[in-house]
Amino acid sequence: MPEIPELQHVARILTDQLAGRPITSIDVQKPIVIRLPREDFEAGLLGAQVRSVQRLGKFLLFHTDRDSVLAVNPMLTGRFQWISGPDGKQKPHARTCFTLRFLDDDRPLGIRYIDERYLGKVYLVDAEDLDHVPVLNEQGPDALDPDLTLDVFLKRLKRYRGQVKNALVNAKFIAGIGNAYSDEILFTAGIHPFTKISTLSDERRTRLYEAMRETLDWAAEIAANEIGRKIDRKPRDFLNVHRKGGRPCPRCESAISEVSPNRRVTSFCRTCQPS
Ligand SMILES: [Zn+2]
Repeated sequence: MPEIPELQHVARILTDQLAGRPITSIDVQKPIVIRLPREDFEAGLLGAQVRSVQRLGKFLLFHTDRDSVLAVNPMLTGRFQWISGPDGKQKPHARTCFTLRFLDDDRPLGIRYIDERYLGKVYLVDAEDLDHVPVLNEQGPDALDPDLTLDVFLKRLKRYRGQVKNALVNAKFIAGIGNAYSDEILFTAGIHPFTKISTLSDERRTRLYEAMRETLDWAAEIAANEIGRKIDRKPRDFLNVHRKGGRPCPRCESAISEVSPNRRVTSFCRTCQPS
């Protein structure tokens, strides 16, 4: 699942490359991901100019000059890919759902939305109706939102029961964090992923907030360097614990634990995150 560090960079690159350019063609290959009639999708986008691409939680929002927004919820496996890489053409991915081409004099410019499992959801709405987009309309503040201060975070956390990892991946609590970065944040904070929120001291709750910001900032910089223009990449090798089960913890060198309750892989260090 793409999360804040990757999506933040992808939104920036898409804005750099696409802002001000009109969409010259739309090919829909797998309409299943598009949550409106295909004709409306095509008519709504053809000729429209992208003004900017914004990341909000795990959504990518393409704002257009028609005051409409192409809202993409990539879910587990959705991602974008350029139709042409820096070194020429890129073969279409078998799981391409739709392709948008943009006006450019010098080169073929366009993006494909690809999705291995067709679980992503794509909407085209008037900007004023953005808060009707499912999931987006229910999500809490973005993890990087400047208004999400420590105070706001602590107040929101009080409303949640159960295990701390479950809260971190819950977009209604805070948006943009998924399975991988929740593990990384908890490692940074030194908190066991299955610890009950109710047992966390104020000090540890504060540490959790700081670890969230530190970890996302740290990862965003590395992810941006590793992705570059290859926006379909999701670099994760550099992570400390997530999916590193059995390998030595980078802090204490004891073996990293990996468990999969509810088929969701959770990785952590029992020494660095005892409780
Ligand atoms: Zn450790």
